[in-house]
Amino acid sequence: MKILVINAGSSSLKYQLINMEDQSVMAKGLCERIGIDGRLTHSKDGEKFQKDLPLKDHGDAIQAVLDSLTDKEMGVISSMDEINAVGHRVVHGGEAFSGSAVITEAVMNALNECIELAPLHNPPNITGIEACAKIMPNVPQVGVFDTAFHQTMPKKAYLYALPYKFYEQYKIRRYGFHGTSHKYVSMKAAELLGKPIEELKIVTCHLGNGSSISAVDGGKSVDTSMGFTPLAGILMGTRSGDIDPAIVEFIANKEKLSASEVINILNKESGVTGVSGVSSDFRDLAAASEEGNEKATVALDMFAYGVQKYIGTYAAAMGGIDAVVFTAGIGENDATLREQITEKLGFMGIKINKEKNNVRGTVDITADDATVKTLVIPTNEELMIALETEKLV
Ligand code: AMP
Repeated sequence: MKILVINAGSSSLKYQLINMEDQSVMAKGLCERIGIDGRLTHSKDGEKFQKDLPLKDHGDAIQAVLDSLTDKEMGVISSMDEINAVGHRVVHGGEAFSGSAVITEAVMNALNECIELAPLHNPPNITGIEACAKIMPNVPQVGVFDTAFHQTMPKKAYLYALPYKFYEQYKIRRYGFHGTSHKYVSMKAAELLGKPIEELKIVTCHLGNGSSISAVDGGKSVDTSMGFTPLAGILMGTRSGDIDPAIVEFIANKEKLSASEVINILNKESGVTGVSGVSSDFRDLAAASEEGNEKATVALDMFAYGVQKYIGTYAAAMGGIDAVVFTAGIGENDATLREQITEKLGFMGIKINKEKNNVRGTVDITADDATVKTLVIPTNEELMIALETEKLV
């Protein structure tokens, strides 16, 4: 089975064609500047192609993807008919989706109802699905939601201590994000440890430009750090993470800003960028810290301290912990930060082997005398979307 995975953003669309027989990526690429002018970058077997071509909307982008996949030079399939299904990343599934779903009219209606929960992300996801459905009407489409994996959280974990009517009327609650990644790496961790996932308590740390941490008990998400929106939880590249909510009004009064202008600052000008004044990229922060920039050092310290606290909190929430998993750009690549996060966790059996910690790829970095496993597992959200799609079609 060959599955096309689509991740549609407002002006971009990423794609991968995956052969499920060996889970290999046959080709992948990116359509950019949709609605502006248009550029397609396509690669197969390490060979890269770039083309400027008019992409007036997502329909054009999908057509360009199909043309590339079937092109004589760039292509990997002889005709569109070889694509058995399309899996779409969808950011928000609200409470309507606790798993992936084959796209039907009812599913589209439910998706449209989720728009107010993710006004920036869901509309382009929906546009991507509609464009595919139009161009490939006979190919089954599947929606895979960032929020779905976290729908197993118990009420005590997902409710906010607000008047209950706000949950009932407006569905204000913790949803959590990066679910596809948390699910993938927790499954991989169980595989790596050679144990049934039902028997494992895992804390998964997805540390990238956006970061979230999850408590995965028996393969189910029981708590996660992001909330009603991806702004919550640990500080991130440019997002503040959790702050005292009263600060929003205080800044609004002092700076003569509206609530939404302050939230914009919390989303785009805060996190390690805001604290350090340097960058959202952890490589830049490490370099600045090394040169003696104290704000860069404190930003990195805050991040490591935040993750350290979440690991402790979620171990307590699950009444134990068998493994910690690091994934995403920072989690997979920043050995110094992994060391910093875990250095005080020896009391709970978490200790890493410093040499193994410097190896890249999927690696068990647990020290010999540790009782809890620490694993680095590269995330693969596209493959997870393809696996979910294969399961449903
Ligand atoms: P992601 O959102 O998962 O693509 O992660 C992107 C982030 O990973 C970047 O903003 C960097 O801060 C971080 N990153 C990537 N490579 C490295 C590295 N070698 N060392 C430290 N951080 C890295």
